[in-house]
Amino acid sequence: RSAELLARQAVRESNARTYPRRLPIAIAEASGSFLRDLDGNVFIDFLTGAGVLTLGHNHPELVRAATAQLTRLTHGLDFPTPAKDAFTEAQLAMLPAGLRDRMKIHFCGPTGGDAVDAAVKLCKTATGRGDVVAFQGGFHGSGHAAMALTGLVRQKQPVANGVPGVHFSPYSYCARCPLDLLPGTCDTNCAGQLERSLRDGNGGVPLPAAVILELVQGEGGVIPARRSFARRIRALTRELDIPLIVDEVQTGCGRTGTWFAFERYDIEPDVIVASKGLSGMGLPVAIIMYDRRLDVWAPGAHIGTFRGNQLAFAAGAEAVRVIRRDDVLGNVRRRGEQIAELLTPLTANPWVKEVRGVGLMWGVELADPRDGGPATELAHRVQGAALRRGLIVELGGRADCVVRILPPLNVTAEVVAAACAIIAEAVNACSL
Ligand code: PMP
Repeated sequence: RSAELLARQAVRESNARTYPRRLPIAIAEASGSFLRDLDGNVFIDFLTGAGVLTLGHNHPELVRAATAQLTRLTHGLDFPTPAKDAFTEAQLAMLPAGLRDRMKIHFCGPTGGDAVDAAVKLCKTATGRGDVVAFQGGFHGSGHAAMALTGLVRQKQPVANGVPGVHFSPYSYCARCPLDLLPGTCDTNCAGQLERSLRDGNGGVPLPAAVILELVQGEGGVIPARRSFARRIRALTRELDIPLIVDEVQTGCGRTGTWFAFERYDIEPDVIVASKGLSGMGLPVAIIMYDRRLDVWAPGAHIGTFRGNQLAFAAGAEAVRVIRRDDVLGNVRRRGEQIAELLTPLTANPWVKEVRGVGLMWGVELADPRDGGPATELAHRVQGAALRRGLIVELGGRADCVVRILPPLNVTAEVVAAACAIIAEAVNACSL
């Protein structure tokens, strides 16, 4: 029955569809960490709607909150509503104390890429400058501007010139150092490169409106920024009065074990972009939170019809309550340690270049031991082999050579153990 729907979709839907090509199933229903396809096969879902289902599929308390809201009010533009008020309160309360009173919230909408566009536009308005610095290997969205900021060349090559004024700087990717240095032997020269070009008035990068940074590149292949790199970028942008935007679309809402990834680095951004995990159950909502001194937009400067999804607000406020009550962030940290223990031994396999991750965001980078090149074909086979064994995983990285997982944040130790066993089996079986 899955095959039948996949065939119908192939005729009627855009050629750009991606997941069903690599994971050929049609989904019937889901619950918690599991989903069932139309043929009755049950899978552990470690793709979780590209990381949106922070509390898994259909969490009963979120379903209850969203259902109650459904009969009350579904759409509210940017009028105040009790659901929006509770959501705003919950989001601000999750910020570190130092930021809580300084940040304002703007509802964008409804996807992560929309919020990225809004963040950049806000910084352009605030600074009167036009250029933006982004990092190699980053991903920020599929719209024209967010794609222009994306440093994954393969994805945007066919769009030709994109949006002008975007400059790419090396990112701290020690497994494949952008400056060809030995891992750990440098003084974050990758950040130094940006520093030199920003300070060089002749031929360097013009003073930009913003620097946009993912602290763990997700689509780029699960690459956590080195602490010294992130801190140096923060110090530099502060000194030069350049707003720092952190794109927490994927890392935010607890994914890395703190509410936002920037907390792990002890840095304070000027603008936070959040979306995926905000509702806890995959309802569309996207926000930016920014320092009050950037509150420069005139009324109506950034509008949009779908900026007030009341269902997402209701579920999102409830998600924060559940996450706090159940110490879900503690679970993220513990399950992350468990994954590290279970997957790191895979590096004994010559095809496994690196196992890396933080919290519940992990990747196994596969490389050809003969030349060190990305083992893309192997990664695709591993994804298929995992699916046949009952686990849904994602691929990422510059050449799709990183097997990625984004489990629900409330996943149990048993499910993590089963999933890691499948990954190990699939990697070892496929690389024979
Ligand atoms: N930023 C990051 C870091 C992301 O991972 C994504 C989505 N993968 C986006 C932005 C874009 O979000 P959306 O697909 O909801 O537009």
